[in-house]
Amino acid sequence: MAAITRLLKPTSSISYLFSRSLSSTTTTNAVISEIESNRPNLSDPKGSRNFQWVFLGVPGVGKGTYASRLSTLLGVPHIATGDLVREELSSSGPLSRQLAEIVNQGKLVSDEIIFDLLSKRLEAGESKGESGFILDGFPRTIRQAEILDEVTEIDLVVNLKLREDVLVEKCLGRRICSQCGKGFNVASINAKAENGRPGMSMAPLLPPSHCASKLITRADDTEEVVKERLRVYHEKSQPVEGFYRDQGKLMEFDLPGGIPESWPKLLEALNLDEYEVKRSAVA
Ligand code: ADP
Repeated sequence: MAAITRLLKPTSSISYLFSRSLSSTTTTNAVISEIESNRPNLSDPKGSRNFQWVFLGVPGVGKGTYASRLSTLLGVPHIATGDLVREELSSSGPLSRQLAEIVNQGKLVSDEIIFDLLSKRLEAGESKGESGFILDGFPRTIRQAEILDEVTEIDLVVNLKLREDVLVEKCLGRRICSQCGKGFNVASINAKAENGRPGMSMAPLLPPSHCASKLITRADDTEEVVKERLRVYHEKSQPVEGFYRDQGKLMEFDLPGGIPESWPKLLEALNLDEYEVKRSAVA
C-alpha cells in the first residue's frame, strides 16, 4: 500500500508515474496460483500483506454492493472511484463543475484526475492504518490498469456479469441515501426466459425507514446517460478484462439473480463460504 500511495501522489504527473522504476509489494503467490487453476483458495489469504482485489463489471451490475459486503467480511477498505468522483462533485472545489459535465454525459474522467483522487484516498486510509483494498470502478482503461500494475500487485480480479437487458432497469432503480451514502434499489426485476436463457427475478433492495425519506437518484442514472455509460464500458473498460485474463487473475462470475441468490454463490466461488461462517461464529 505504501508503494501505491507514494507513486500515486497528488502532485505526481502521469509521465512521472510511467518513468519511475517501480517496486511492487510481495505477491501472494499461493493465491495467484490457485486462481490460475480456477480454484481460489482465499480463506487464508495473507502473505506479507492484506488483500488487494479489483471488481470489474458494467454499470449497474452490482460491483458496489458485492465489493462493499466483501470489504466488511475481509476487513479491507472498499474504494470506489465513482464515490470519490461524486464526493468531489458535491464539494465546491475547483474541479466540481468540470467533473459534473463529464460524469453527467456518461464519459470517463481523465486518468490524471482519477489518480489524484485515488492517491488522496489511499493516503488518508494509510494514515488511519488501513491496509489492502477492494477497488471498484478502477481500473477502467488499459492505461489505468498498466499504471496500477506498475505500482502494486493485484491478487484477484472479480468480473461480475449479468444479462444486459436488465442493466438499464437496475440503474434507473438505484437510489442513494443522502445522509449515510448507502446504496439501494427500488426496481423489481422480472426478466423473462428467452433464447434458452433462464428467467431472472431480482427483488428491490429497499432502504430502512431512517433512510427512506432521504433517497436521491444519481444525476447520471438517466436512461440516456446509462446507455452511453454502457457503450463507454464496452469500448474502454472491457479490454481491461482481457488484460487481467492474460495474467491469470480474472475470475468471471455470472450473477444468478439478486443478493439472496448471488451472495452465497459468490462466497462459494471465492472459497470464502467457510470464512464467513467462521467469522460470524467469533463475532
Ligand atoms: P458505474 O455505475 O458506471 O459503474 P461509477 O459510480 O463507478 O459508475 O462511476 C461514476 C462515474 O465516475 C463514471 O461514469 C465516470 O464518469 C467516473 N469514473 C469513476 N471511476 C472512473 C475511472 N476509473 N476512470 C474514469 N472515470 C471514472
